[in-house]
Order: sequence, then structure tokens, then C-alpha cells
Amino acid sequence: MASELEPEVQAIDRSLLECSAEEIAGKWLQATDLTREVYQHLAHFVPKIYCRGPNPFPQKEDMLAQHVLLGPMEWYLCGEDPAFGFAKLEQANKPSHLCGRVFKVGEPTYSCRDCAVDPTCVLCMECFLGSVHRDHRYRMTTSGGGGFCDCGDTEAWKEGPYCQKHELNTSEIEEEEDPLVHLSEDMIARTYNIFAIMFRYAVEILTWEKENELPGDLEMVEKSDTYYCMLFNDEVHTYEQVIYTLQKAVNCTQKEAIGFATTVDRDGRRSVRYGDFQYCEQAKSVIVRNTSRQTKPLKVQVMHSSIVAHQNFGLKLLSWLGSIIGYSDGLRRILCQVGLQEGPDGENSSLVDRLMLSDSKLWKGARSVYHQLFMSSLLMDLKYKKLFAIRFANNYERLQNDYVTDDHDREFSITDLSVQIFTVPSLARMLITEENLMTIIIKTFMDHLKHRDAQGRFQFERYTALQAFKFRRVQSLILDLKYVLISKPTEWSDELRRKFLEGFDAFLELLKCMQGMDPITRQVGQHIEMEPEWEAAFTLQMKLTHVISMMQDWCALDEKVLIEAYKKCLAVLMHCHSGFTDGEQPITLSICGHSVETIRYCVSQEKVSIHLPVSRLLAGLHVLLSKSEVAYKFPELLPLSELSPPMLIEHPLRCLVLCAQVHAGMWRRNGFSLVNQIYYYHNVKCRREMFDKDIVMLQTGVSMMDPNHFLMIMLSRFELYQIFSTPDYGKRFSSEITHKDIVQQNNTLIEEMLYLIIMLVGERFSPGVGQVNATDEIKREIIHQLSIRPMAHSELVKSLPEDENKETGMESVIEAVASFKKPGLTGRGMYELKSECAKEFNLYFYHFSRAEQSKAEEAQRKLKRQNREDTALPPPVLPPFCPLFASLVNILQSDVMLCIMGTILQWAVEHNGYAWSESMLQRVLHLIGMALQEEKQHLENVMEEHVVTFTFTQKISKPGEAPNNSPSILAMLETLQNAPYLEVHKDMIRWILKTFNAIKKIRESSSTSPVAETEGTIMEESSRDKDKAERKRKAEIARLRREKIMAQMSEMQRHFIDENKELFQQTLELDASTSAVFDNSPVVSDMTLTALGPAQTWVPEQRQFVTCILCQEEQEVKVESRAMVLAAFVQRSTVLSKNRSKFIHDPDKYDPLFMHPDLSCGTHTGSCGHVMHAHCWQRYFDSVQAKEQRRQQRLRLHTSYDVENGEFLCPLCECLSNTVIPLLLPPRNIFNSRLNFSDQPNLTQWIRTISLQIKALQVLRKEESTPTTASSKKSETMGELQLPEGFRPDFHPKNPYSESIKEMLTTFGTATYKVGLKVHPNEEDPRVPIMCWSSCAYTIQSIERILSDEDKPLFGPLPCRLDDCLRSLTRFAAAHWTVASLSVVQGHFCKLFASLVPNKNHEDLPCILDIDVFHLLVGLVLAFPALQCQDFSGISLGTGDLHIFHLVTVAHIVQILLTSCTEEDGMDQENSTGEEELAVLALYKTLRQYTGSALKEINSGWHLWRSVKAGIMPFLKCSALFFHYLNGVPSPSELEATGTSHFEHLCHYLSLPNNLICLFQENSEMVNSLIESWCHNSEVKRYLEGQRDAISYPREPNKLIDLPEDYSSLINQASNFSCPKSGGDKSRAPTLCLVCGTLLCSQSYCCQTELEGEDVGACTAHTYSCGSGVGIFLRVRECQVLFLAGKTKGCFYAPPYLDDYGETDQGLRRGNPLHLCKERFKKIQKLWQQHSITEEIGHAQEANQTFVGIDWQHL
Ligand SMILES: [Zn+2]
Ligand SMILES: [Zn+2]
Ligand SMILES: [Zn+2]
Ligand SMILES: [Zn+2]
Ligand SMILES: [Zn+2]
Ligand SMILES: [Zn+2]
Ligand SMILES: [Zn+2]
Repeated sequence: MASELEPEVQAIDRSLLECSAEEIAGKWLQATDLTREVYQHLAHFVPKIYCRGPNPFPQKEDMLAQHVLLGPMEWYLCGEDPAFGFAKLEQANKPSHLCGRVFKVGEPTYSCRDCAVDPTCVLCMECFLGSVHRDHRYRMTTSGGGGFCDCGDTEAWKEGPYCQKHELNTSEIEEEEDPLVHLSEDMIARTYNIFAIMFRYAVEILTWEKENELPGDLEMVEKSDTYYCMLFNDEVHTYEQVIYTLQKAVNCTQKEAIGFATTVDRDGRRSVRYGDFQYCEQAKSVIVRNTSRQTKPLKVQVMHSSIVAHQNFGLKLLSWLGSIIGYSDGLRRILCQVGLQEGPDGENSSLVDRLMLSDSKLWKGARSVYHQLFMSSLLMDLKYKKLFAIRFANNYERLQNDYVTDDHDREFSITDLSVQIFTVPSLARMLITEENLMTIIIKTFMDHLKHRDAQGRFQFERYTALQAFKFRRVQSLILDLKYVLISKPTEWSDELRRKFLEGFDAFLELLKCMQGMDPITRQVGQHIEMEPEWEAAFTLQMKLTHVISMMQDWCALDEKVLIEAYKKCLAVLMHCHSGFTDGEQPITLSICGHSVETIRYCVSQEKVSIHLPVSRLLAGLHVLLSKSEVAYKFPELLPLSELSPPMLIEHPLRCLVLCAQVHAGMWRRNGFSLVNQIYYYHNVKCRREMFDKDIVMLQTGVSMMDPNHFLMIMLSRFELYQIFSTPDYGKRFSSEITHKDIVQQNNTLIEEMLYLIIMLVGERFSPGVGQVNATDEIKREIIHQLSIRPMAHSELVKSLPEDENKETGMESVIEAVASFKKPGLTGRGMYELKSECAKEFNLYFYHFSRAEQSKAEEAQRKLKRQNREDTALPPPVLPPFCPLFASLVNILQSDVMLCIMGTILQWAVEHNGYAWSESMLQRVLHLIGMALQEEKQHLENVMEEHVVTFTFTQKISKPGEAPNNSPSILAMLETLQNAPYLEVHKDMIRWILKTFNAIKKIRESSSTSPVAETEGTIMEESSRDKDKAERKRKAEIARLRREKIMAQMSEMQRHFIDENKELFQQTLELDASTSAVFDNSPVVSDMTLTALGPAQTWVPEQRQFVTCILCQEEQEVKVESRAMVLAAFVQRSTVLSKNRSKFIHDPDKYDPLFMHPDLSCGTHTGSCGHVMHAHCWQRYFDSVQAKEQRRQQRLRLHTSYDVENGEFLCPLCECLSNTVIPLLLPPRNIFNSRLNFSDQPNLTQWIRTISLQIKALQVLRKEESTPTTASSKKSETMGELQLPEGFRPDFHPKNPYSESIKEMLTTFGTATYKVGLKVHPNEEDPRVPIMCWSSCAYTIQSIERILSDEDKPLFGPLPCRLDDCLRSLTRFAAAHWTVASLSVVQGHFCKLFASLVPNKNHEDLPCILDIDVFHLLVGLVLAFPALQCQDFSGISLGTGDLHIFHLVTVAHIVQILLTSCTEEDGMDQENSTGEEELAVLALYKTLRQYTGSALKEINSGWHLWRSVKAGIMPFLKCSALFFHYLNGVPSPSELEATGTSHFEHLCHYLSLPNNLICLFQENSEMVNSLIESWCHNSEVKRYLEGQRDAISYPREPNKLIDLPEDYSSLINQASNFSCPKSGGDKSRAPTLCLVCGTLLCSQSYCCQTELEGEDVGACTAHTYSCGSGVGIFLRVRECQVLFLAGKTKGCFYAPPYLDDYGETDQGLRRGNPLHLCKERFKKIQKLWQQHSITEEIGHAQEANQTFVGIDWQHL
């Protein structure tokens, strides 16, 4: 069918292309009814361009649309060729100074913490970098998409509103200038016409709801019969559900289904079928049927294709409008005008209104297109922004209602624009005054919470799922309210006052519905059956916290508003609790001759609620009255006489008693919901408007009533009245009540009550309560947090309350109270409390949790002990109260208080008769201390005309009166001072008595002039004095005002303005930790050590004993004993790779004999160095395997190790392992013994002999493989064959190893083969020995690389495990041939040998440029014994080693010279004089000759020698390591220390001449013929002719990629990255490979690929090509390092980026600027170079079980 359709489509296309935009525009210009004309054009052409088949063709459609539809409009608009017209417009335009860049998903945005009006004001990266804020305290986030840059918006920034780029335009811009003046009348008229028609068309078609019928003026005559089955997005169904359903419904492949689902998710809809109506309808019914089971079905519509066509064009049109207005601010204004013009239907009929109101009905894609248009038009035009804001506010309620029922996230809703409008201060103010916005928002919110209890309070219990969903959605309204309030007015108009207070009324209504909500009753007997709902109420409270605070802030700004708000709030509170004194008869309480009436109420028996927002708001306002001094200025305007202190305190007191009782264990049966509520009540997120305000309310109450009365009411609410009012009740109580729980419970209650009194008197750090400012408050919080322990910046931030701008105010004060300690390689930077701040420590700080309190106590006592001070923690000196609260201190010296103190001390004195506790006593001591501090301050700051009325010392000196006749408090303290059972409190009692005496002295010496403190004072600084004078002046003013109010307040004496005195404080010095000293045992310098050859240094055999970690048995390592093994981990590696694109395609056929010098894929072996018996390990491994199989059947979970692949954890250190290496003695010594070393051949002779032996072997091999029929010939050839002298190819040596060792040799060999080649284990495979040698070579190379990179000596102190691993690995590889087939190993030797010494039988070997010589060396040396064992001619193994080594070295030098890219850099080194230099020059000339002068001419021997030396170093070092471990010759001491060059020492150790070129000269004939053969290779020619590449030496070290210093440039880079598979879409999880720098689209369906039959994410797929299974990535948006290994293993790792506080920010939650920490990045690099990534993952997974559950393969 397609083929028939094609020509037709092409014909249409051709006819379309023949249209002339100019002609059409010309026709339109003449038209009388332009609308009709244009609509006809659209009706005709749109369906011809869009929706011609099942799939869209965006490029073609766009091209045709531009030509046929948009082109004419542009011509019409410009009146000429738009190419010129638009350019002219742009030139004439005076662009706005607003940036307005709309953010892409993932783009970095910046906010200035110093200058932004609120945190929603952000800059794009370009503007930020050009702004003053880059040097301020800024915050960085990644955009979730939507929103735009606020650069240029003067209302958004306190300072620096323009960046450099946007500043340029500001000088010319007049705010009020009409941009239309730059356009001609004609142009305005035309623009207006065309915009009006097109905008209306787009709105009409996008909001069109019929499925089969077009609007009348777009209906066509001839209508096709094609439909789409359109699938819409919802947030209910998962990806998987959609994909599954589609496969069923439209018979597509999984890939297609994924494609559909991805588009539906992104654009909001996608047609899944195209055809006639029936065909589409059928698919629809299947989808609906399949998805309607549990939830509502997916939305599907069968739509006529022409409707879809018009809608697609409608969207195109809106984008087009958005780009056209970019040419000129005038065009933009016209568009705004068109959009906001009221239509024929009056109210809400403008195009903008119509779009907004149908927002929730539109699909995602359509929404985001028109939202963007709004942002680039209405929000960029200052005049229309205001008009739009009004429309938005007008529609607010409807839009919100639509949003609440819509299921799309808020970012796709028009309501999300509120942040752009409400946070503009002038707009917010205008909307409040003119549109009553505050009230609208609150009322809309309330309307959605209809579920109320009998008292009209919110009720969240028994919410349906739908109600809960709605509740979650309406919470965004609170956010809107916050936006409106976030910038506070600087001036108040009467209208603003009126409207704000109206809003405040509405707000109080809201709080009223919360006052007393979720009441609880103590559960006795039964445990509650179901945890009651509590979270919703707390969510509400938490969301409102900032709004409540901001309401208070607003009130604080205007005295009139504050007074009115206070009155309103009080009225509401009285209304709430009007009934509180009803009911029962009041009861009378009396103690010490004081009596008071109160109601009968028990928290433990009646309903109580934690939610008291109205009371708390009143408390907040009351503090403001004090702070702003309104209370003294206008007492007559305040309803202070209406205040009933008992009423005010009642509910907060109940709430605090509830907490005490919960703590005392009385509410255990109420379950966890209550525990959680109490937790949040005190939590930093809530406490500011909960717990803190309850304390303030009690302080307010106490300051207005007789403290004795207050205390009695409190005792009664704590249900402790009986104990303290009845003499000897305590004694009877403890003897009668034998139930321990009850006694304990009562004790806790008493402790809690005392704690509450301490808080009421001591907590005066809120401005308005005490004479402090906000800085003092935050300082005190920090001091107390740091008293617990040193903390990181983020920990501190978390412990402090944030304001609505997310600020804690900590930065401004932290320097004053703490010192910063930088982090090391791990961990974080820490703040430590300055020692001079310790004296401000208050053990009973009210924000301490119980655990924190005891930790702080312990820490502070420890500190004091370290300083050799006494361990008393007396109360700190406190700032004075504000006058309104001043009388509060009298609670300390009130009769009832003294009675309580006396009683408790009495119990302590007669300690056996009563139920009392030390905590109780400690609190009483603290209270006494507080009273003494208070009195002392009063005395010290007394002003002449006043008398000190605080006489606590006198009162406690008096003995009790009849009938008690108890001793005085002082006397009891003196008694307790020596009580043996109070050892801990002795210091505190002593401190009290000392202070008491000091006060007595002050009183005695003079009642007026203060006396110097006995303990010694330090001189105060002059600034302090100034401060003091200022405070005194203020206080004096306050005092005068206060006189007025005092009459109204209940009672009380005078107050004095106190002053903090610095107390003498010893500074504490912690001594720095001592650094460890390494002792290097002196090593004797010894140039005689030689590692190989006939001259090898003889090493006396050392017996080696090891202990098995499993059975603890010791055993000697011997040839014939049971095998001892090391746990080992073999892995493939690309760490050294110089070519990451190489890939082994068919591992079964791959021949690993020759390693290419690009080292593209090696096999690395590592070990933790732990030794076991082979049989112990076997038993252990079997049990692990059995256990794992059982566990997997049960849980089907991954573990950190894969048993099926032979993985296990080292039983000692849990290091990931997958095999074991046997421990062996140096294997060469075993075979060397039978030979004498006289008369060894030289290199030339040796090569000849070996060549002969090889030839003989090859002939024999051929014999064996020829069939038996030719047996007659066999003897013939045998006869012909001259066996070299002493060569006995029929000899097979006996394997010297025990069975157990042999088995382990095979085990490890097979494991290396299996892992290295990724094939099935096969111990017979001829490639097994190759893999063993190769792994040995590769591991040595990688270790040499690390040592060089770190500039460490070759034989320096290597970590034990590395040393053990290399030794075992080398010896194992050397011994492995004994368990392999002799002929196979000989075959390998022959082939390897042939690569250097040509041999007719091996002609297709790699050329010398394509062989890694170290791998070659290891292979040759380790295979050689297989040949040598049959040689009885007297050539020793050592001779062979030496000649092999020399031969390979010669080859390497040739390699280096051929590939060296030596540049003669004109330095004065032309005259080569050194012996080496002349020799190498001669050698180079020879090479040139053999290569036919293809080699570049170089005349500087100095340069050549230098490059040979540099190039050969790594090889020499590797060789030294290799022979050292192979033969066990100790290393020369020179190589154990770091130094410049060890070239000579290395040469000597390796038995090489210092002048390496001598190797060539000594055997010149043989060597020259070899060189010639190498140079004649065709590959060498190709290389020299520049036709191919080759590796040059030394190889550059491999590093991880370079990362930028500033993290935001990474974010920016990633935000420009789009998914490579789904056409320009922004990737959601851009992830950077740190090995090669590739950006990947991770964790997403779009980029999944199939790997070995499984779907894997982009990262996993990448690890296979880039890191042979291991990968290191940076997840850019999370700022998190990701380690992956294989498909199932992975972990997250701390990123190498730190903020200024030395902390990482995983997840970019805090947004502090991040900078690269080079040391940490190096550490990651080191993990990679050491092949420790897999091990690190293993440890991380063992430590963090959540890592095991993550589906790593899909990342
Ligand atoms: Zn910008
Ligand atoms: Zn800018
Ligand atoms: Zn700034
Ligand atoms: Zn053992
Ligand atoms: Zn271990
Ligand atoms: Zn992708
Ligand atoms: Zn990579």
C-alpha cells in the first residue's frame, strides 16, 4: 500500500511547494474579510501537510508548514520579504533589559543568598557569570524546567539586578516608554490583524473537544476517512503497564511500545494507531479494557485526522508567535494586547483566560507550549504582566479547583505560574490590595478541607484516597500564600492595612479550625487498636510554619496592624476557649498560705491536643508587643485588661504536661503516633511555632500573675499538687505505693516540672522576651549544638531552624563562636566550639533532646576535667528580661518555689525514706544556681536609686516555720555537701555555697557600690562598654514607658537593667596528635646483587612458615606438602589500555599469545594476602555455596558476590575474591640443581642451539600428526633429522609438586583463563598457560605504572598484600607449565621465539611493532623450562633466561627507535660525544639503512640516547620486578629509595651493560640479521610510510579525565546534552564516564540496549566497551560517583567535589558552590589504577544493604 501512496503524497508535496507565500500574502492584504480568507487557507492546507500517516514526519511537516502556512503570514506581517522585514524590526527594537531565558530541564540556576529578594529569584549561568553575585554567597540548583532568568528584574534583587550583558541596555530604557512607538502605523495594524486571527485559531483548535467534527469555518468539503487512536498520558499508570497494554492492543513490538510510552510521557499524547474509525475504535476498547481493572482506565480518544492536524499546527503556531515576538518588543506588546482583549462573551472570554481555564483539559505538550508563550510574552512586558496578574488572580479559585482534580504534576499546571507573579513584590502588594488575594487564597484552601468535626475543626481521620490526594494538592496553595507574603512591605497604605487584616481574619479562621484538632485521650488498660491518623495535621502545621512566622513579621512592621492583629487573635482565642471554665465547680489550691482557684482538669484523663496555633500566634504577637515597645507606647489601645493569665496558660501547659507524661511512660498504650507527634512538636522544623511558643505563652502568663498561683496551678496540672501541699505526703507515698512504676513515674514528672521552671526562667533569648537581638539567639543555638560535639556545616544547618528564605543566619555568627577544621581525604570539615564560649553552656538548654542533653553533659564535664577544673556545670549568666517579662524572675524566690526546693532537698538529706532521684536534685541545684546568678547580677548592676528586691540568699538562709521546723535550704545544702552518695554533685553544691558567700560579701560591703568579684574579673573591652551604655539608655526609655503599663499588670516590683559580665575563663588547648615516625632499617648498599643469568646472586634457601586463617595451623611451604593458598581476585582490565575501541568479538577463537602494545585488554590478579590451606578453603567455599543457594531460593536477592561465578569473600577481611593462588618456593631452584655452569654459550650460539632444538621439535610434531599410513616415511625423516647434541625430546620430567599443589595450579590457571577470556572453564585448553603468563605480566605492568605515577621507588616498602600477591603470582606462573601439556607449552615457546628469530613454520606472526615486549619476555622465560628440561647439553636455565632477556631488550630498543618521535629541538646537543650517544647514533643509522631510509634522519645521538633511556625504563623496571619475584634475589638498596634515576642500578641488577647498545655490538652479526628481518616486515614499512599508527615509548600514563574546577560548568555541559536516541530530548540522568569522558543517558528506557540477552542501561552497556565490565561514572545531576562492576554490582561513592565547608553534596540538595577536590579525585583515580573498584563495591555493599537492592544494570 505504501508504494501506491508514495507518488500521490509526493504529488501533493510538489503542489504545495508551488504555493507562493508572497502571492498569498498579497491576496490577504486585499481581502475584505481577512479572517475568512485565512481560515479557508488553513482549512484547505493544514490537513494536507500534517497527519498524512501513522507516524509524524516533523522535518517535512515543519518545512511545508513554513512554506505554505507561516510564510504567507510573515509576508503579510512585514509587508515585504520577511528576511528583510524581521531584520529591520530587530534593528529598530530597543530590547528589554530582562533576560527571561526559559530554563531547560537540568540547566544550572543560581540564586544569591545576599541579594536575591527571595530564593525563587534565579539567574541563568551566563547572566550569573556576568553579575556581581558570583563573588557573593550563592546557591546553585538544577532547574526542573520551566521558570526563567530574573536578570534585569529590579524587584528581584536587592543589589546588582543586571549582569554585564543586560546592563548595556538599561541607560536608554524609560520604564514607561511604549514599545509601539518604534513601529509604523501600518505594521501595527497588520500585526494586530494577523495575531488576532492566528491566536484565536490556535486557542480555538487546542481547546476543541469534539472528536469527529471541526469548527464550522475549518470544515472541509472533501473529508478523508482517516482516524487516529490517541493515547493520553496520566500519572496513574506506570511505564510498564502502558508498554504491556500497547503490545496487546496494537500488536506492536516491545521497542515500538517503549517508543509510544516515552512520547506519551513526554508530550502527553501519542497516536498509537492510524486507519479507519473501526480499526482505531477496536484498539481503543482493548486499551480501556486492559487498564480499567484497579484504577481508572487510560484515556484514549479516536480522533479524526484533520482535527489532530489542526491541533498540531495550532501548537506550531504558538511556538511561531513566541519566536516572532522575539524580534521586537512592539510585536510582543501587540500579542499581549490581543491575548488579554476581552472577547464577545464578556468576563473571562479573552484568549488568555480561555487557555488558562481549559488548562487541566489540555495534554502536557500543549500546556508547556502555551505556558512558554505566556512566559515570553505576558511576563516579559511590564505593563501586561500586571494585567495578566489580575486575570490570574481573578481566575485563581477556578484554576486551583481544576488543578486539584487534575492528575498532572504541578509543573505542568498553569497554577505553577503563581511563583512568577506572586513573588514580584509590587504585584503581590497590588493583588492584595486590589484583588484581595490573601483572602482568596486562604478561602480557596479552606473550601477544599470540608471534612470537619463537631466543633468545626479539621478532621483528617478516615480520609479516602481521593481526599488524601486532594489534600496533597491543595498544599500548594500554602506555598502561594508564602509567595505573596515573602517580601514584606516597606510602606503601608490604609488599603493595604485593611486588606492585610482581612486576610489575617481569614487566616485566623484557618487556625481556628486547627486549634485543638486531633485531640487525644490517654489509653488505659488496652493498647490502642489502630494508630490514629496524625501525619496530615502535622503536614499542615509544618507547611504553615513559615506562613505563621511571616504573618507575625508583617504585623511587626506596622504598629497599627500589630495592635489590630493582637486584638483579633485574642478575640479568636477567647472564642475558642469560651467554654473552658464551664462545667464543674472550681477547686481551690493552697500552699504556704497562698491560695488560688482553678478548674478541675487532668491531662491523663481528659482530651488534650497538641495543635494550638491560635494560642501560639498570640504568644508570638505578645512578644512583638514587647519587642516593638508598642506595649509601652500605646497601652491604652491594647486589651490587656481582658487578658486572663490562667486562660492563656491553660492549653499550652496541658500540652507540656502531656509531653512530660509521655516521657514518664504514662501514655505507652497510645502507640507510636503520639510518640511521633511529640517528636515533631520539638523538632527543628516545627518547634518555632509550637514548643517555643508554648514556652513563651507560659512566660507571658507567669509575668502577669502571682508566681505562687502559677506554681500551684502547674503542680495541679502535673498531678503533683498532693505531694507538695501535704507535709510528709512524700514519705507516706513512697511507703504506701509499692508499685515501682508509679514511683518512677512520679519522679519523672517532678523532674519534668522542674525542667519546665528552668526553661521558663532561663529561656530569654528570643528578642522581645529577653534583651537580646536575633544574632544572640542564633549564637546560643550554635553554642549548644557544638557543645554536644564538633559538627559539619550541613549538620549544623540541619539543627537550626530555617526561615522562609531557607536561611539560618548561621554564617554571620559562626566565626565568633567556632573554629573551622578542614577535612582530610575522607570525612568533612568540622566546626569546633571556641573554648571561651563554653561558659555560656546551659545544661538545660530547651532545644536539647534527652540524648543530646546527656551527650552534651558528658562532653562538657570531660572538657572541664581535661582543663583540671571542677566539673560543676553551673547555669550561665543570662541577659536581662525585657520589661514586659521582667517579673518572671520572681518565680525563683516565690514561697511555693522555695517550698518545692526545700521539700526535695529534705528528701535528699533523708535519702532512704523517700522516693527521689538524683536528676531531681540536680535540677533543684540548677534552679538555686540560677537564682544566685540572678541576685548577683542584680547587686552588681544596681542603680543608685533602687533597692535590690531579689533576696533569694536571705530567703534560703531562713529555717522553715512551724509546724515543719525544717532546716533552711542553705543548711541542707551544707549537709549534702558531704553526703557520700552525692559524689557527682559535690562540685555543684560547692559552687553554690561559694557563690552564696560571694553574694553575702557584696551585700555586706555595700548596698550601693558594686564590689569587685571575688573570683576575679577581666577588663571589658571598650566596645562592650559602649554596648552597655546604649542598652542602659534604651532601658531607661523603656522604664519610663513601662511605668504606664505597670498599673495594668497585676503586680511586681521594679527591675534593673542587667549587664552580662564576662567571666574568667581559662583557654583550653588541645595538643595536636603526634605524628607517626617511620623507622627505616638501614640496608647495606650492594652493587653485587644480580637477579638472573649464570651470574645470579646465590640466595640461601629460606624456610617459609605460614598460618592458615581458617584452622590457625602453622605449616611450612614446601614442594611436597599440602598446598597453601592466597585468596585472589582475577578480573579483566582496561586500566592500561591505549585503545578503548578494541573489543574481543569471539573469545572462543581469540588467540591471546601475543599481547598488543596498546594493552587494550589485560587480566589483572589481586589478593588480600590471606593464607589458607587449600583444603580448608575448599571446605569454606563449599559451605558458602550451599548457604547461598539456599538463601537465593528463599529471597531471590543479589549479594555483593556472585557464587555461581566462583566468587566468595575472604573469610578474614571480606575482600571480594574469585579464586586462590598457591604459595610456592622459587620454582627455578628446583630445576637448576642438576646442572653445572661451566662453559655457557654466548647469545649467538644460544640462539643457534635453540633454533635447532625448535626445528627438531617441529619435525617431530609433524611426524606425530601425519597419519600412520606414512609410517614407512617416518623412520626416514627421523633418520634425516639430526637431533642437536644432548637434546632428548622423548624425555618427560617428573612433576615435583604434591597432588594438592598440582590441583591448585590447575584451579588458579583455569580461573585466570575463564575470567580473562570470558569463556567456559576448560583446563585442557592450550590457552590456559598463556593466560597465566599474561596475567602475571599485566599485573606487574600495572603495579610498575602505579609506582611510577606516585614517584615511588621500585622496591620501596610495598604493601604486604601486594608483595605477597606478586610473589605468588610470578611463581605460580613459572610453575604452571608442570601441570600443562609439555608439547603445548613448547609450541607456545616456539611461536613466541619465532616472533624475534624468524622461522619458516611461523610466518604470519605479528610484526615487532605490534608486540608488547614485556608480555613476550614473561611468556618466553616461563615457557622456556618446557624446552630446557629436555636439553642435557649443559646449557643452564639461567643462561637461557639471560639470553632471552637480552634478545627481548634488543627488540625493544629497536621498537623504541622505530617509533620514537624524537624532535631535534635545536638545543646545543649536536655533538654527541658520549660512548652511548655515538653507539646509538650508529645503531640508528643501521636501522635507517634496513628500512630503506624510510626512517626520519636524526643526527643527535644525545636525543636518541635520551629517548631510548626514557622509553626503556618501564620495561626494565617491570623486568626487575619480574626476576626479583621469580628468583627471589633481594633488591639492591638503591632501588628501595626514591631518587632521580636508577638506570645503572637497574642495568646491573638485570645483568645488562650500562651502555645497552653493547648488546648489539657484542653479537653484531646475529643481531643485525635479526634487525634486518624485523625491519623488512611490511607492517613496519606501512608504519614508516605513515599508513598506520604504532604505540611509542614510554607509553603515556592513563588517567581519569580532567574535571572542571567549578561543578556548575559540569552541570551546564550536561544540560546541553540530549539523549542520543530520542531525537534531541534532554537526558534526565546525564552521566559522565570518568575513564573516557563520554556522556551517557543513564537510567532511562530510551537508552537501554541488549547485552548478552538482557536489557541494560547505558552505563552498564558502556562499562563493557570502555572498562571491560568495570566503570566509574559521575552522575552529574546528583553529584554522585557511581561504580559499576558486571551487571549486578554497583555502589555510589562520594564525589570529588566539596563546598567551602569541606562537605560533599550528594543529590545537590544544599546547593552550595562546589569545587573540585584534587586529592579526593586522585584517590578515586588510585582506586581505579589499583583495580580496586570491584573490591570497593563489595565493601560498600556489605556495609550498606540498600546497595544490594538497587537495580544497577538499568543505570
Ligand atoms: Zn539570564
Ligand atoms: Zn543578564
Ligand atoms: Zn549578590
Ligand atoms: Zn587450614
Ligand atoms: Zn583477606
Ligand atoms: Zn536516552
Ligand atoms: Zn568510558
